Amino acid sequence: MRLCTPHVRVRRIWTVELRPQEGGTVLVCPQCRPGPLPLTAGSARSAVLAHLAQHARRDVLPPHLRICQCRERGCRWHPRHRGCAGAVLLVLMRAHGGRLWRLADACAACAAATAQAAVVPDALLPSAAQPSTAPRPPRRRAGSRRPGTDKHVRVKEMLTYLAAALPRFSSPTARLLALQCALRADGRGRVGLPDGFLRGIRLASHAAPWHELEHAAWLRCTGRQHGSLHAQILDAAILHQAPGRQERARAAHWALHPTPLAAPHGAPPSIQLAALALAVHTRNTEASTDLDDLTRLTATAPSSLEDLLDQLVRARTLSAWRHDNETGKICWQLPPAHG
Ligand SMILES: [Zn+2]
Ligand SMILES: [Zn+2]
Ligand SMILES: [Zn+2]
Repeated sequence: MRLCTPHVRVRRIWTVELRPQEGGTVLVCPQCRPGPLPLTAGSARSAVLAHLAQHARRDVLPPHLRICQCRERGCRWHPRHRGCAGAVLLVLMRAHGGRLWRLADACAACAAATAQAAVVPDALLPSAAQPSTAPRPPRRRAGSRRPGTDKHVRVKEMLTYLAAALPRFSSPTARLLALQCALRADGRGRVGLPDGFLRGIRLASHAAPWHELEHAAWLRCTGRQHGSLHAQILDAAILHQAPGRQERARAAHWALHPTPLAAPHGAPPSIQLAALALAVHTRNTEASTDLDDLTRLTATAPSSLEDLLDQLVRARTLSAWRHDNETGKICWQLPPAHG
């Protein structure tokens, strides 16, 4: 059954194709003229996302009018499931071995059922805006800071974004490093991490996560200078973040010890990332979120996530956790001392 609505339907779905050709891969967008756009330095994935995000920013629709575009097309992008459910999210999908990329509004159930799909936080879109004459969605006033919550929000948005922007096989260490770089970068995507800081986060002698991010064309190491390791972020979407650098740096600092849910000192990166994913969803001593949210942010399968949660209980970072089968939510409690 199709409901009639008095509103003009806005097609909240955008696609681009990556076409290899002589002289390098080009990005072909049916909505943009003229012709193919050359891919500049950086990962194809982030260039694609930055381009599709421009379209999403232009075709704004109030949240209550956004519908699952997947269902509108007969749910052909994923195997059968129980039906549409949950919030309408902006979802990046990869198809045809990475040749075709699609950004669309889809419900949480369809997003979770679609292979090679990642949720892009809405909040990142207005902040990633380039100067443009297109109407923008309303945004929080620059000065209206809610103390204590902004760092949660900022880290959550960035983790969610990185879950979409980094390759799926990226290690937890590379994800944590990318988060620090993204939040600490200047307006041109340049970041310098002092040796002392890298020692503190136990990355001083590890080249592997840097290589991982370089291999993903997400950043390029530009050398060592004045006791710091410098890098250039190549991900176009990172370059236009709205919050000031200080605010982002505060969020980056909190992400290292996300109280009240910090992983024990020296815990493996997978545990640290899991603790951080819980911390951004924790407001009180008892908290919960969808299982899908956590598996996406930690880039793990549900069974591995359960193991990580058990380890956090053994380390007394959590006092308990459970999976609510009815709602599909993971609920957890902090030890009383944290209250
Ligand atoms: Zn376009
Ligand atoms: Zn669907
Ligand atoms: Zn749906």
